[in-house]
Amino acid sequence: MSIGQITRTAQSSASERRHAPARRVVLELRQVTCAYGRRQAAITDVSLAAREGEILCILGPSGCGKTTTLRAIAGFEPLLSGEIYLEDTLVSAPGTLVPTEQRRVGMVFQEYALFPHLRVAQNIGFGLEHLAPEERAAQVQAMLELIGLAGLERRYPHELSGGQQQRVALARALAHNPAVLLLDEPFSNLDPDMTGKMRQELADILHRTNTTAVLVTHDHDEAFAIADRIAVLNNGRLEQFDTPETIYHVPSTPFVADFVGQADFIPGVVQNGKVLTDIGEFPNQPGLPTGAHVVVMVRPDDLRIAPAADHGAQIQARQFRGSENLYTIALPSGQLVHSSESSTSVYPIGTQVELRIIATHTVLFEDHRTQPRAPGASHGDSPSEIPDSAIPC
Ligand code: ADP
Ligand code: MG
Repeated sequence: MSIGQITRTAQSSASERRHAPARRVVLELRQVTCAYGRRQAAITDVSLAAREGEILCILGPSGCGKTTTLRAIAGFEPLLSGEIYLEDTLVSAPGTLVPTEQRRVGMVFQEYALFPHLRVAQNIGFGLEHLAPEERAAQVQAMLELIGLAGLERRYPHELSGGQQQRVALARALAHNPAVLLLDEPFSNLDPDMTGKMRQELADILHRTNTTAVLVTHDHDEAFAIADRIAVLNNGRLEQFDTPETIYHVPSTPFVADFVGQADFIPGVVQNGKVLTDIGEFPNQPGLPTGAHVVVMVRPDDLRIAPAADHGAQIQARQFRGSENLYTIALPSGQLVHSSESSTSVYPIGTQVELRIIATHTVLFEDHRTQPRAPGASHGDSPSEIPDSAIPC
């Protein structure tokens, strides 16, 4: 089986809009730590930066510190250590907390937070009292057109759908021309059909207005769909900050690998300059010494199956997902791996198959936990368990 070298094609194919030419940094967090009271820190040493017009997503499981990070940027939470800069101005540090209203940040939350007794136009124009009446009306009109709700300006929030309310909340935040727009799980109250449409619309509006945005989500599909770069948080710590393609194809930790999609971790050992595993040989790109124990991460789209007797691998389950079939394959050792096949490739459970690796890159993690063993030996009860002590090679 041949495995290509790690390719960075995924990274270089990311749209030019993302990085070139280098645009000014609008928001920067340097080793930010926040804690609630005397309890354990909610976020620790988080560093990230957003360039003008960039959409950053903060991605991670519930309780990992996503909202805390947004609240720190907004100025609602003081810092225990670290610094936050907005447009080159230090706005947060221990002992420094520039008030939210002086930060030029806009906010959109999942519950929309519209004023129920105000009409759409009044909601959007709220806080623009410093403008002359004509100027304010023009700004409200521009926002209505931007979000595609011109004509509904006299409606009350309860007369709008969830998606329309969310667009009004977005318009209200954008009307203030914020340096950074902060969005906390903005689609979680919408039904799934609406969510896909709104994601696209939001990305479109942000790009058209060249708005820098930080969006919080626990949904990797959402982050992949709209982010220029993704910050993955785990337990209050930043695990990786990269483009969606790199996060998916070249995750830097087992946690990231597992969180952003189906991943199998296959134990292997370095011998004769190669990594030997139950599904074949992989290149020893980091040049690890003979005898080193690693795990190789493979995704379902890295593996193909074909019916073939005497290979010892057997289909254990098939999940029909509409556009694909996801197969669970049991190797003779008990190791489980997954393969995605076209929606029309239907094989019965129990079919003996041969595996072909089509990965264009190899992701290895050192496995400090695994005891020395020969490839092919049994892996125990939880073959795909994430090696929590692993570090990226
Ligand atoms: P997320 O948005 O990723 O779900 P949060 O930032 O809300 O996570 O929470 C991070 C951690 O901080 C969690 O352990 C949570 O319980 C804790 N936390 C959040 N808000 C408060 C609060 N107001 N007081 C005390 N602890 C909090
Ligand atoms: Mg939250």
